[in-house]
Amino acid sequence: MKHNFGAGPCILPQEVFKEASQAVIDFNNSGLSILEISHRSKAFEAVIEEAESLVRDLLAVPNGYSILFLQGGASQQFAMVPMNLLPQTGKAAYLDSGTWASKALKEAQKFGTVQVVASSKEANYTYIPKEYDVPTDASYFHYTSNNTIYGTELFETPKSSIPLVCDMSSDILSRKINVADFGLIYAGAQKNMGPAGVTLVIVKDDLLGKTGRDIPAIFDYRKHIEAGSLYNTPAVFAIYVSLLNLRWLKAKGGIEEIERENIIKARTLYDEIDRNPLFKGAAQAEDRSRMNVTFVMNNPELEKTFLALTEERGMIGLKGHRSVGGFRASIYNALTITSINALVDLMQEFAEKNA
Ligand SMILES: *Cc1c(COP(=O)(O)O)cnc(C)c1O
Repeated sequence: MKHNFGAGPCILPQEVFKEASQAVIDFNNSGLSILEISHRSKAFEAVIEEAESLVRDLLAVPNGYSILFLQGGASQQFAMVPMNLLPQTGKAAYLDSGTWASKALKEAQKFGTVQVVASSKEANYTYIPKEYDVPTDASYFHYTSNNTIYGTELFETPKSSIPLVCDMSSDILSRKINVADFGLIYAGAQKNMGPAGVTLVIVKDDLLGKTGRDIPAIFDYRKHIEAGSLYNTPAVFAIYVSLLNLRWLKAKGGIEEIERENIIKARTLYDEIDRNPLFKGAAQAEDRSRMNVTFVMNNPELEKTFLALTEERGMIGLKGHRSVGGFRASIYNALTITSINALVDLMQEFAEKNA
């Protein structure tokens, strides 16, 4: 068994892997593999309905919002959001808090005017910009709630009189949110919800159909809503594995319980980073992410040795992203405190040896 600290595709609970592998052989004693059943079958209808109702339940999604399971990843949403929400002559506001935010706003620029309200790029995105005004004449305000690469997270929903659009790819289902504060939420499943191949979209219905743009059907949220996420063949297996993970989360006690655990996990690791003389955090303390913990060594020459040691101990995926360096521990929902403790123990051992 490995300790999987990878940033994505991410760790999922072992029981989810077991159930998913069983379904590949024989789905619900149907004599068919989940990989060969029709997406229009009763059996799959039940899967997608349950997945939708679990998302609705776990996140307390209010009426007036549709839940979609699409493909193309969060990157496709970078384009679909402006296509569907930004009129040709209109304007959208974006917060530039990291690589993904910056990619999102570049796509929006292809569909209309983009006003970047603030950016922390000059500081290599080590913090979340806070002092800015959201223009009232823009169609929506887009931000990224968790910056997977830099390890910063925005816990307080920004104040905005225009609809909020949020990329929650890497912190969806990790903590409580108030969906009613948002016009649209999207998340590539592979960071915290399921395997790669499916993207969750939660959209307020009355925002749609106002751009005057002739949107290709496959990129039109309304088409997917009308078809109940079955406009074309959806990612059947990825949706099924997401369902298993959603069931796991619900059985565990839902968002409240996972948030409680995530707080403890993050605190345990940050406490060690702050206490240990060899390490220091990469992001500004007040904006530290609970999902992606970025840290470096005071003596960068030791980083290679430490990384090799983590691998020897079965810890996977700790090498930092090239734009930050050092280390990144992605500690998504399914990663247990046991894995955190294994890393903390190794950091302490390493500090003793290199004192
Ligand atoms: C990984 C990631 C993306 C890109 O997701 P894809 O599904 O690979 O397109 C976008 N935004 C955030 C915050 C991410 O972590």
